[in-house]
Amino acid sequence: MGILSRLRSVMAADATAETRLKLVTDIVATDLVAEVCSIYIMRAGEVLELFATKGLKLDAVHLTRLRVGEGVVGAIAASGRPLNLAEAQQHPQFAYRPETGEELYHSMMGVPILRGGRVLGVLVIQNKTPRHYTEEEVETLQTVAMIIGELVGSGELVNKEETLPTDGIAMLPLRLEGSTLNSGLGMGQAVVHEPRVVITKFVAEDPEEELERLRKALSEMHGALDDMLQSSESLDDEHRDILETYRMFAEDAGWLGRIREAIKTGLTAEAAVQKVHDDTEARMSQVQDPYLRERVNDLQDLANRLLQHLVGVETISPDDIPEHAVLVAKNMGPAELLDYDRTRLRALILEEGSATSHVAIIARALDIPVIGQVKGAVDRIEYGDPVIVDGNNEQVFIRPGDDVLSAFKSNVKARLRQKELYAALRDQPAITKDGITVSLNVNAGLLVDLEHLKENNADGIGLYRTEIPFMSRSEIPGVEAQVSLYRKIIEEAEGKPVVFRTLDAGGDKVLPYWDDHGEENPAMGWRAIRVTLDRPYLLRQQLRSLIRASGGCELNVMFPMVAEVSEFLAARRLLDMEIERESIKGHRLPSRVNVGVMLEVPSLLFQLESLLPHLNFLSVGSNDLFQFLFAADRGNPRLSGRYDNLSPPALAALKRIVESCNEAGVTLSLCGEMGGRPLEAMALVAIGFRKLSMSASAIGPVKMMIRSMQLSGVERFINGQMKKSHHSLRPILRQYAKDRGIIL
Ligand code: PEP
Ligand code: MG
Repeated sequence: MGILSRLRSVMAADATAETRLKLVTDIVATDLVAEVCSIYIMRAGEVLELFATKGLKLDAVHLTRLRVGEGVVGAIAASGRPLNLAEAQQHPQFAYRPETGEELYHSMMGVPILRGGRVLGVLVIQNKTPRHYTEEEVETLQTVAMIIGELVGSGELVNKEETLPTDGIAMLPLRLEGSTLNSGLGMGQAVVHEPRVVITKFVAEDPEEELERLRKALSEMHGALDDMLQSSESLDDEHRDILETYRMFAEDAGWLGRIREAIKTGLTAEAAVQKVHDDTEARMSQVQDPYLRERVNDLQDLANRLLQHLVGVETISPDDIPEHAVLVAKNMGPAELLDYDRTRLRALILEEGSATSHVAIIARALDIPVIGQVKGAVDRIEYGDPVIVDGNNEQVFIRPGDDVLSAFKSNVKARLRQKELYAALRDQPAITKDGITVSLNVNAGLLVDLEHLKENNADGIGLYRTEIPFMSRSEIPGVEAQVSLYRKIIEEAEGKPVVFRTLDAGGDKVLPYWDDHGEENPAMGWRAIRVTLDRPYLLRQQLRSLIRASGGCELNVMFPMVAEVSEFLAARRLLDMEIERESIKGHRLPSRVNVGVMLEVPSLLFQLESLLPHLNFLSVGSNDLFQFLFAADRGNPRLSGRYDNLSPPALAALKRIVESCNEAGVTLSLCGEMGGRPLEAMALVAIGFRKLSMSASAIGPVKMMIRSMQLSGVERFINGQMKKSHHSLRPILRQYAKDRGIIL
């Protein structure tokens, strides 16, 4: 009977994990004709503890401990690579431990116990007589180590928390830093969005069957890669090259050969893929060369794809998350977030993401705290980990201790007190100390936003993002469905104005039922009005629904991403056609139709004179406007701090818009995220904005700021500073506010 089948019986035996570990050492020692076989397991604080041995003194079990890097065992753990030594005592790192009685042994061969690319322990064999172990023996020991890795990872031997990657402070709670995309505090159990593939079966009975499974999975994966290549025909050469390299890797004989060899030793196909992947990763972990690192990433990605074809991904159903869940993701689109049961979501942690990315905007609407740019979050947080997200201090606590928990609770209390203060302002106007009133409105897209409108008594809905209800459906809603949705919104707004923005799909706002067109630059691609003018039927249906839903009351329609006057005029014509059609059909018409445009594309700045006479209102979409003005992707975390919307060029552009609108007598508002931040709002009011639209949770803080400011003073100050060559006015504006008692 081969070593793997004997191991399989041991693994399946009804015995404690520790007993099974001991049996493993017996089997290995016999099979590899070694006098000693020992298993060291990583414990908290990066210490390797002897857990089982055949051949060393049994008293040493749980007593002998080595730091990572200490002794030969520690050296194997530190490098993540096998060591094969005919004379172990001559190794510069050899550390003698008298309690083990190992002075008798000369030869030693050890391999790391790996799981998911992490070292969980070390497996060694030793012999009295100098002996050079063969490559085949090293391979066998590596395979055994992988099986032990699963036993360790299962949490039966050492507390699972000790084996989590924790930067050398395994048992201690972990604190990660990021950047706040939505403030607030949230606590719950971690749910990892798209976690890595989990393998449960390692040893196979029939290698032929496993080879066949591998062949099938490979051909599925090749098919998927070919599809990717085919759909990339329109892409440039560089992009194609990358995909071709990928395809080449997938056919790499060396890689596949190693997987097949591993299957022949008795592993399941998935375990073989994982083993080859772990070996490569451990071997390459020291590589610094960025090109080679990229290739390792490619291989990693391929191994993951192959595993997905072999076992499928074990994803959590979005409806089936814990009562209090904290979602952890590399990045996600707004529609993916909406898939989860919102009532259970307490916070969101992203490895990427930026404040104006749409997923952050949706999270803000749902009042979920979000921390972005948290490096390594997906690898370091496991399903079920208790997590606190502190959006006020840009940090995340994983498995928090009692001190953090009590600080968290007092913070929650302070926040509630703050909310009460805002609530007390509910019926007070947003008026500056020198008597200038600013209209504060809510950005909406979910029905829950309407409740917020009532809660904070804002002046209306300044931006209703119609694509959001489109995103959470399985097909394009027809006229009837749209009419009933828009009617509901108008009813819930109880007479307050609602500005409906026509469909702004595309970019990162992907509709699940629309093909992804594989655009290289989707934010600057086929989105918003560009789509709806090319598919006028879609826009006409939407306009028809809006007109019908607003029968007898005022309708405010706004077109997104307009880049030139002619685009607006084309959209306006469709609106007029629909009004006429509704009238002919005898439907009740709106009492008045106000038409507006979002200013989000810089080209429009240079056509304002001809545009404004056609409009009832203009709304600045600063999120998009500034990404195009500064040529800086709004979703790219690396750029999020580079350009500031309180910089002289940004403020100058805004001021010019204010002046043009005042001259033309057109109502102006701003509905980008900057309007919801008190310091930015102070600057906006100072340069002439009298209407802002923001996420509901920002109304209280912005109103409090406005009521504490003397407009004339800020106006003078900002006008003086705007002409200087500051990178940003942010620090001096903050200081100004502090000195004058303006509450930010
Ligand atoms: C904007 O671009 O500022 C805006 C409000 O639109 P969205 O964030 O939906 O793109
Ligand atoms: Mg926009």
